[in-house]
Amino acid sequence: MSRTEVLIIGGGVTGLGTARDLAMRGVNVILMTASDVCSGASGRNHGMLHSGARYAVRDPEAAIECVSESKVLKSIANFCVEDTGGLFVHLPQDDPGFPGMFRRACASCGVGIEQLSTREALDMESALAPWFDEVLAVPDAVIDPMSLGLANAYMADRCGADIRTHHQVEDIDLMNGIVRYRDLTNGEVGELRPEVTVNAAGAWTAEVAGMADLHLNVTTSRGTLVVFEGRLVDRLVNRMRMPGDGDIFVPGVGTTVLGTTSSPASSGNDDLPTGAEVSALVEEARAMMPGVVAHRPIRAFTGVRALTPGGLGRDASRNFTIVDHGADMSMAMLSVVGGKLTTYRLMAERISDRIASILGNGSSCRTHLELLNDDDGDEIPEAHRARFCWQYGPMASEVWSSCQDRGAEEICSCQGVLRGEVEHFVGLGAGGMGEIARRTRAGMGYCQGTGCLLRLSSIIGPGAMEAISRERERGLLPVTMGVQMRQSAMRDCLMRVYGVRP
Ligand SMILES: Cc1cc2nc3c(=O)[nH]c(=O)nc-3n(C[C@H](O)[C@H](O)[C@H](O)COP(=O)(O)OP(=O)(O)OC[C@H]3O[C@@H](n4cnc5c(N)ncnc54)[C@H](O)[C@@H]3O)c2cc1C
Repeated sequence: MSRTEVLIIGGGVTGLGTARDLAMRGVNVILMTASDVCSGASGRNHGMLHSGARYAVRDPEAAIECVSESKVLKSIANFCVEDTGGLFVHLPQDDPGFPGMFRRACASCGVGIEQLSTREALDMESALAPWFDEVLAVPDAVIDPMSLGLANAYMADRCGADIRTHHQVEDIDLMNGIVRYRDLTNGEVGELRPEVTVNAAGAWTAEVAGMADLHLNVTTSRGTLVVFEGRLVDRLVNRMRMPGDGDIFVPGVGTTVLGTTSSPASSGNDDLPTGAEVSALVEEARAMMPGVVAHRPIRAFTGVRALTPGGLGRDASRNFTIVDHGADMSMAMLSVVGGKLTTYRLMAERISDRIASILGNGSSCRTHLELLNDDDGDEIPEAHRARFCWQYGPMASEVWSSCQDRGAEEICSCQGVLRGEVEHFVGLGAGGMGEIARRTRAGMGYCQGTGCLLRLSSIIGPGAMEAISRERERGLLPVTMGVQMRQSAMRDCLMRVYGVRP
């Protein structure tokens, strides 16, 4: 049985950020995650780097944290941040008292706002409805959650952390200080005796606490988002009202995300988007952007998050809590509940500070000072450099070097992904379409893998064709409406030709 200082359960941004922070302090850390990194909420969100404006009225504490953390991330993770800025637009049918409340709340939380005229706003975002009566600019930005998560994993590993994907924790014996886990790749079970265990299992936090016979009062909430073809807006556009469904547009790389629904989730695995959710989102979003119905939704996805107790859905705070389960057993255990992608680093810092004090480690946090990316991609040809640096951050040059060795033939033409990129991650052990797509974005573009299915499966290996098709289908079915119907019919024919469907 091996001995380690800290075991982190959960490979979303919270766990990965904590692994990096602790490893930078010289702590011996193992992270286990049941699936791939960022396969939970960390890979299923809007990618909004909150300025704090969205929470200023309802959740000022969360807003204040966003104000400072968004500045930190713009500085340490600028490779995966697009500083687009954001707009809040007020529609005549919404609460006339809200803009005043919103301005006062932003001022008291320290969110910088700037009043724009209707003309200025329409010059910036021509797709917006022209009848809004007030518009404010805020410092919202876009962040790529996968690039952020992967960079944390890579940098944590570089500092000595041991990141194990497909390792599921199954039992926690606090009294004897033993954690039992299963390696899901081969079914083997193992045991660890960490001094501290961190439960960063997102929507599964209560379940993991239950393994240690602990009760955590956590609610889980699911949110469905729709991805549209093309960049419909250049800034984040929010509706100026209490957060609700269908009130945010987030620009992406050649896409736009419309979010989000918010309803209670039955479990962390309750992540199948429905057609009804998509229709409701699009219907609601028409108030801000009437033309949205004419655009092609290319897929939908659902994320599930854990929220701190005290309210359901949107009424629950987006703040975070660290629960210290007490150190009077053979092993200390901390659970982290709630929070946001925007504040993951701060959460990691607070958890790591607590652990440092338990371990008697005197080092302080440096994650707000040290860049997550030390690779400027100088060697990468200009045609590919921007995308490689955005997606791969500190790994950009390594991945490019694989393209030189293994081939730069285009595998996924929607996303411009090259053979060497796919082979690089297959070589590092990423298996299956989900893992390749999370890293390279292959199959995530306009055709959702229709065009690259054969090429991808020839690299990924046997069984990949059905798996790729199944994985994409989850997100495609709920958006089979309007212009997307034609694409779906064509995809259906091709799947029959490929033999994936009878
Ligand atoms: C719809 C939606 C939209 C959002 N949009 C934004 C946004 O725009 N901006 C923002 O800042 N925040 C946003 N958030 C919040 C943000 O996504 C989450 O707060 C954040 O990703 C949570 O990360 P995490 O690491 O705590 O959890 P997760 O990313 O869910 O990771 C938890 C991991 O634990 C693993 N795990 C579970 N059980 C076990 C076990 N027994 N053993 C080992 N591993 C286990 C899971 O496999 C999972 O990968 C959004 C959330 C949702 C749901």
